[in-house]
Amino acid sequence: MGIETALPTDLMLTTQLQRVINWARRSSVWPMPFATACCGIELMATACSRYDLARFGAEVMRFSPRQSDLLIVAGRIGIKMLPVLQRMYEQMTEPKWVISMGACASTGGVFDTYACVQGCDQFIPVDVYVPGCPPRPEMLIEAVMTIQRMIDEDRIPKGPGGKRSPLGVSVQPNYQPRAQPVGLTVGS
Ligand code: SF4
Repeated sequence: MGIETALPTDLMLTTQLQRVINWARRSSVWPMPFATACCGIELMATACSRYDLARFGAEVMRFSPRQSDLLIVAGRIGIKMLPVLQRMYEQMTEPKWVISMGACASTGGVFDTYACVQGCDQFIPVDVYVPGCPPRPEMLIEAVMTIQRMIDEDRIPKGPGGKRSPLGVSVQPNYQPRAQPVGLTVGS
Protein backbone atom coordinates (compact mmCIF):
# COMPACT_ATOMS: atom_id res chain seq x y z
CA MET A 1 0.00 0.00 0.00
CA GLY A 2 3.00 2.26 -0.35
CA ILE A 3 3.68 2.66 3.35
CA GLU A 4 7.01 0.83 2.97
CA THR A 5 8.32 3.55 0.67
CA ALA A 6 7.07 6.37 2.91
CA LEU A 7 8.85 5.04 6.00
CA PRO A 8 12.56 4.46 6.51
CA THR A 9 13.38 0.75 6.31
CA ASP A 10 15.26 0.76 9.62
CA LEU A 11 12.38 2.39 11.54
CA MET A 12 11.61 0.91 14.95
CA LEU A 13 8.50 1.32 17.04
CA THR A 14 8.21 0.52 20.72
CA THR A 15 4.91 -0.19 22.41
CA GLN A 16 3.33 -2.49 24.94
CA LEU A 17 2.51 -6.05 23.95
CA GLN A 18 -1.03 -5.68 25.32
CA ARG A 19 -1.64 -2.71 23.01
CA VAL A 20 -0.58 -4.75 19.99
CA ILE A 21 -2.80 -7.64 21.09
CA ASN A 22 -5.75 -5.30 21.59
CA TRP A 23 -5.14 -3.63 18.23
CA ALA A 24 -5.04 -6.99 16.44
CA ARG A 25 -8.06 -8.30 18.34
CA ARG A 26 -10.26 -5.29 17.66
CA SER A 27 -9.21 -5.15 14.01
CA SER A 28 -10.25 -8.74 13.32
CA VAL A 29 -13.55 -9.39 15.03
CA TRP A 30 -15.14 -12.40 13.35
CA PRO A 31 -18.93 -12.49 13.66
CA MET A 32 -21.10 -15.56 14.00
CA PRO A 33 -24.56 -14.62 12.64
CA PHE A 34 -27.54 -16.14 14.41
CA ALA A 35 -30.09 -14.60 12.08
CA THR A 36 -33.53 -16.12 12.42
CA ALA A 37 -35.86 -13.46 11.06
CA CYS A 38 -36.18 -10.09 9.33
CA CYS A 39 -33.34 -8.45 11.32
CA GLY A 40 -31.09 -10.87 9.50
CA ILE A 41 -31.75 -9.00 6.26
CA GLU A 42 -30.39 -5.79 7.81
CA LEU A 43 -27.43 -7.79 9.07
CA MET A 44 -26.76 -8.94 5.50
CA ALA A 45 -27.10 -5.36 4.25
CA THR A 46 -24.45 -4.28 6.76
CA ALA A 47 -21.92 -6.51 5.05
CA CYS A 48 -22.86 -5.32 1.55
CA SER A 49 -21.03 -2.64 -0.42
CA ARG A 50 -23.19 0.29 0.66
CA TYR A 51 -22.40 -0.05 4.38
CA ASP A 52 -19.26 -2.18 4.01
CA LEU A 53 -18.60 -3.70 7.41
CA ALA A 54 -15.20 -4.66 6.01
CA ARG A 55 -14.06 -1.10 6.75
CA PHE A 56 -13.99 -2.17 10.39
CA GLY A 57 -12.39 -5.57 9.83
CA ALA A 58 -15.54 -7.36 10.98
CA GLU A 59 -16.97 -8.69 7.75
CA VAL A 60 -15.58 -12.22 7.96
CA MET A 61 -18.78 -14.02 8.88
CA ARG A 62 -17.82 -17.45 10.12
CA PHE A 63 -20.53 -20.06 10.15
CA SER A 64 -18.58 -22.06 12.66
CA PRO A 65 -18.72 -20.93 16.30
CA ARG A 66 -15.20 -22.22 16.97
CA GLN A 67 -13.85 -19.66 14.50
CA SER A 68 -15.94 -16.73 15.78
CA ASP A 69 -15.67 -14.29 18.64
CA LEU A 70 -18.73 -12.07 18.05
CA LEU A 71 -22.20 -13.58 18.22
CA ILE A 72 -24.87 -11.42 16.54
CA VAL A 73 -28.35 -12.53 17.56
CA ALA A 74 -30.68 -11.07 14.94
CA GLY A 75 -34.33 -12.05 15.14
CA ARG A 76 -36.73 -13.85 17.40
CA ILE A 77 -35.62 -16.98 19.19
CA GLY A 78 -37.98 -19.88 19.58
CA ILE A 79 -37.83 -22.00 22.71
CA LYS A 80 -36.78 -24.95 20.57
CA MET A 81 -33.86 -22.96 19.12
CA LEU A 82 -32.58 -21.83 22.50
CA PRO A 83 -30.37 -24.90 23.21
CA VAL A 84 -28.72 -24.39 19.83
CA LEU A 85 -28.00 -20.74 20.62
CA GLN A 86 -26.54 -21.64 24.01
CA ARG A 87 -24.36 -24.39 22.55
CA MET A 88 -23.06 -22.07 19.86
CA TYR A 89 -22.17 -19.45 22.47
CA GLU A 90 -20.32 -22.02 24.57
CA GLN A 91 -18.34 -23.25 21.55
CA MET A 92 -17.11 -19.79 20.56
CA THR A 93 -13.54 -18.74 21.26
CA GLU A 94 -12.60 -16.54 24.21
CA PRO A 95 -12.74 -13.60 24.58
CA LYS A 96 -16.16 -13.51 22.95
CA TRP A 97 -18.79 -10.85 22.52
CA VAL A 98 -22.53 -10.78 21.96
CA ILE A 99 -24.71 -8.23 20.16
CA SER A 100 -28.47 -8.47 20.56
CA MET A 101 -29.86 -6.93 17.38
CA GLY A 102 -33.45 -5.73 17.31
CA ALA A 103 -36.45 -5.79 19.60
CA CYS A 104 -37.15 -9.50 19.17
CA ALA A 105 -33.68 -10.64 20.23
CA SER A 106 -33.59 -8.26 23.19
CA THR A 107 -37.16 -8.51 24.47
CA GLY A 108 -39.20 -10.87 22.31
CA GLY A 109 -40.62 -7.84 20.49
CA VAL A 110 -44.24 -8.16 19.55
CA PHE A 111 -44.06 -11.94 19.97
CA ASP A 112 -45.24 -12.10 23.56
CA THR A 113 -45.97 -15.82 23.36
CA TYR A 114 -44.99 -18.96 25.23
CA ALA A 115 -43.01 -20.14 22.19
CA CYS A 116 -40.65 -17.15 21.99
CA VAL A 117 -37.75 -16.28 24.26
CA GLN A 118 -38.46 -12.90 25.85
CA GLY A 119 -34.90 -11.63 25.61
CA CYS A 120 -31.76 -13.66 24.86
CA ASP A 121 -29.95 -12.01 27.79
CA GLN A 122 -31.90 -14.30 30.10
CA PHE A 123 -29.79 -17.17 28.78
CA ILE A 124 -26.54 -15.77 27.38
CA PRO A 125 -24.60 -12.61 28.39
CA VAL A 126 -25.25 -9.67 26.06
CA ASP A 127 -22.69 -6.91 25.58
CA VAL A 128 -24.49 -4.47 23.28
CA TYR A 129 -28.21 -4.07 22.64
CA VAL A 130 -29.27 -2.54 19.33
CA PRO A 131 -32.84 -1.18 19.49
CA GLY A 132 -35.20 -1.05 16.53
CA CYS A 133 -37.52 -3.15 14.44
CA PRO A 134 -35.36 -3.60 12.51
CA PRO A 135 -32.29 -1.54 13.44
CA ARG A 136 -30.54 0.18 10.56
CA PRO A 137 -27.14 -1.11 9.44
CA GLU A 138 -25.52 2.04 10.84
CA MET A 139 -26.72 1.08 14.31
CA LEU A 140 -25.27 -2.40 14.01
CA ILE A 141 -21.98 -0.86 12.89
CA GLU A 142 -22.11 1.41 15.94
CA ALA A 143 -22.54 -1.68 18.13
CA VAL A 144 -19.51 -3.34 16.53
CA MET A 145 -17.49 -0.15 17.01
CA THR A 146 -18.55 -0.01 20.67
CA ILE A 147 -17.04 -3.44 21.24
CA GLN A 148 -13.93 -2.46 19.30
CA ARG A 149 -13.51 0.65 21.46
CA MET A 150 -13.78 -1.42 24.63
CA ILE A 151 -11.18 -3.90 23.37
CA ASP A 152 -8.86 -1.11 22.23
CA GLU A 153 -9.05 0.72 25.55
CA ASP A 154 -8.54 -2.52 27.46
CA ARG A 155 -11.79 -1.92 29.35
CA ILE A 156 -13.07 -5.48 29.46
CA PRO A 157 -15.06 -5.72 32.70
CA LYS A 158 -14.22 -8.60 35.01
CA GLY A 159 -16.77 -10.21 37.28
CA PRO A 160 -16.34 -12.50 40.29
CA GLY A 161 -13.59 -15.07 39.85
CA GLY A 162 -12.01 -13.13 36.97
CA LYS A 163 -14.78 -14.16 34.59
CA ARG A 164 -15.75 -11.50 32.08
CA SER A 165 -18.95 -9.56 32.76
CA PRO A 166 -21.21 -8.49 29.88
CA LEU A 167 -20.93 -4.82 28.94
CA GLY A 168 -24.71 -4.35 28.93
CA VAL A 169 -24.71 -1.14 26.89
CA SER A 170 -27.30 0.02 24.39
CA VAL A 171 -26.90 1.93 21.13
CA GLN A 172 -29.01 5.09 21.15
CA PRO A 173 -31.38 5.37 18.18
CA ASN A 174 -30.35 8.88 17.13
CA TYR A 175 -29.44 8.20 13.52
CA GLN A 176 -31.22 10.50 11.04
CA PRO A 177 -31.60 8.77 7.67
CA ARG A 178 -31.24 10.90 4.56
CA ALA A 179 -34.13 11.34 2.17
CA GLN A 180 -34.33 8.41 -0.22
CA PRO A 181 -33.41 7.70 -2.92
CA VAL A 182 -30.01 9.39 -2.80
CA GLY A 183 -28.15 10.19 -6.00
CA LEU A 184 -25.67 7.68 -7.30
CA THR A 185 -22.06 8.74 -7.01
CA VAL A 186 -20.64 6.39 -9.65
CA GLY A 187 -20.66 7.48 -13.26
CA SER A 188 -20.98 5.34 -16.35
S1 SF4 B 1 -37.20 -6.79 15.67
FE1 SF4 B 1 -38.62 -6.45 13.98
S2 SF4 B 1 -37.35 -6.68 12.13
FE2 SF4 B 1 -36.24 -7.65 13.84
S3 SF4 B 1 -36.81 -9.81 13.79
FE3 SF4 B 1 -38.21 -8.77 15.19
S4 SF4 B 1 -40.02 -8.23 13.91
FE4 SF4 B 1 -38.29 -8.69 12.53
